[in-house]
Amino acid sequence: MGSYTPVYSHNTNVYNLEGFTPPVVDKAYLKSIGVRVEPDPETLAGLERGSRIFKDRFDSRKLIPRTRFETFEGDPEAVRTEIHNYTGRCPTLTYEINPVKGCGVGCQYCLVTDGAHERELAVDLGYHLYVRRLLEEKNGPGSENKNHYYYFSPKTEAFQEASLNTGVAHMILREFIGHYQRCPESKARLFIASKAGAEHLLIRHDGESVLDLFSRLKDRMQFNTSVSIMPSPLRDVIEPYAAPLSERMRAVRLCQERGIPSNSALVQPIFIPCLTDEGIKSFFDTLRSEGIVNYKPEFLTVCMENLAILGPYLGAFDKEMERQLYEAYIMPSNSDHRKQRGRTAPDRKASIGNIRRMMEYTDSIGMSVSICYWVRRQLGIGEDMIPMTNRNGFQCLGYQTRLFGG
Ligand code: SF4
Repeated sequence: MGSYTPVYSHNTNVYNLEGFTPPVVDKAYLKSIGVRVEPDPETLAGLERGSRIFKDRFDSRKLIPRTRFETFEGDPEAVRTEIHNYTGRCPTLTYEINPVKGCGVGCQYCLVTDGAHERELAVDLGYHLYVRRLLEEKNGPGSENKNHYYYFSPKTEAFQEASLNTGVAHMILREFIGHYQRCPESKARLFIASKAGAEHLLIRHDGESVLDLFSRLKDRMQFNTSVSIMPSPLRDVIEPYAAPLSERMRAVRLCQERGIPSNSALVQPIFIPCLTDEGIKSFFDTLRSEGIVNYKPEFLTVCMENLAILGPYLGAFDKEMERQLYEAYIMPSNSDHRKQRGRTAPDRKASIGNIRRMMEYTDSIGMSVSICYWVRRQLGIGEDMIPMTNRNGFQCLGYQTRLFGG
C-alpha cells in the first residue's frame, strides 16, 4: 500500500464548506427552492436514494478518495481490449488505456463511478506490457496497421499520483516510444485527455519527466486539457484533487513550448446554470489566450442519485443555480434523454440553445467546436452547424485527424 501527498488540493472542500450538510432532495425540498417541474416517481425515488448515499458518505467521510493506493501485477495477456465507442457510431477506432482502477482526483460527478470514491485505488504495475502487446497487435509489423487512437485514459486520470509515483504513466509512454522505434510507419496515435496541472507533468521516473517523454512523441500524440466552465470555488469542491485552472493552463503552455499538439480542450462536464454570459466569456478568453483553438463541449450526464449530490453542492454557492440544475434534468419529457450507461443528459432544447450561445462567443474569438456523434444525433446538429471534421482538423472528442498526415 502506498500513500502520497496530493500534488494539488484546495483549502475548501466538502467537509469544511461553511454551514454545509447534505439535504434530503425530495418533493418538499424541490418545492422549497422553487423548482417548477414535477418529476415522475422513479426520478424522485432516485433523488431520495442519492440523498441517503450522500449523507452516509458525508458522515463517514468517504466522499473524496483516500490518498493511498495498492499495486498489483496484472497478466498482460489477460487484459481485455477496451474499445472507446460508447455511441456505437464513432467514426474512429480508439483503444482505451486504463492502468489504474479507481481515480485519485475524486470528481463528485465522475461518470465512471457516479461520484463514488470509496474503493481503494489499484495500480497495475504490468500495464505497460499490455500496452506493448496491444500496439504490436494492432499497429505493429505484420498487423493491419490501420489509423487508431489510443486514449490515455477515459476511465481514470492518466497523470494522477498513483500512476506517476509508481512510474506506470512513464512506462506506458515509453512503450509508445519503443513501438515507434520498432515500427516507424505505425499509424497508432496517442490521444491524452487529462486534468493534469504543470506539476504533474514535471514528475520524473528514471530521470525523465512526463513532459520529456511527450517531447519524444510529439508528432504522434496530442495532449487535450480537460476543464469545465464554473466558478473556481465550486470546481475546488467538486474536483477535490484536480489541478486548478491556472495550473492546467500552465500544463498546456509547457506542452506548446515543446511543440506538443495541445490546442484543443475537452470542456466538461458543463453545468448549464454556470453558463452565464460573463462565465462563457472569461472561460473561453482564458483558453484562447493559452493557444487553444478548439473545444469539445460536453454537458453533465448524470444518474438521479448523483444529481442529488451535485445539486446541493451548487446550492451551497447559489440556490438559484441549484434550482436551474434540477430543472434541466428532471422533467418527465427528458427522461428518455439518456447517454451511455443510462445516464441522463440535460433537456435537449436547453442543450442546443447553450451550444449555440457558447459558439456565438467562441466563433467571435476564432475557436472551432467538435462534438460527439451521439450529441449530434440527439440534438439534430447538422454538418452546416458543426462539421464532422472541422476547419482545424478536429472531430468528436477533439481527435486531431491531421496527426495521421491528412
Ligand atoms: S478525473 Fe475523470 S476519471 Fe478521475 S474522478 Fe475525475 S472524472 Fe472520474
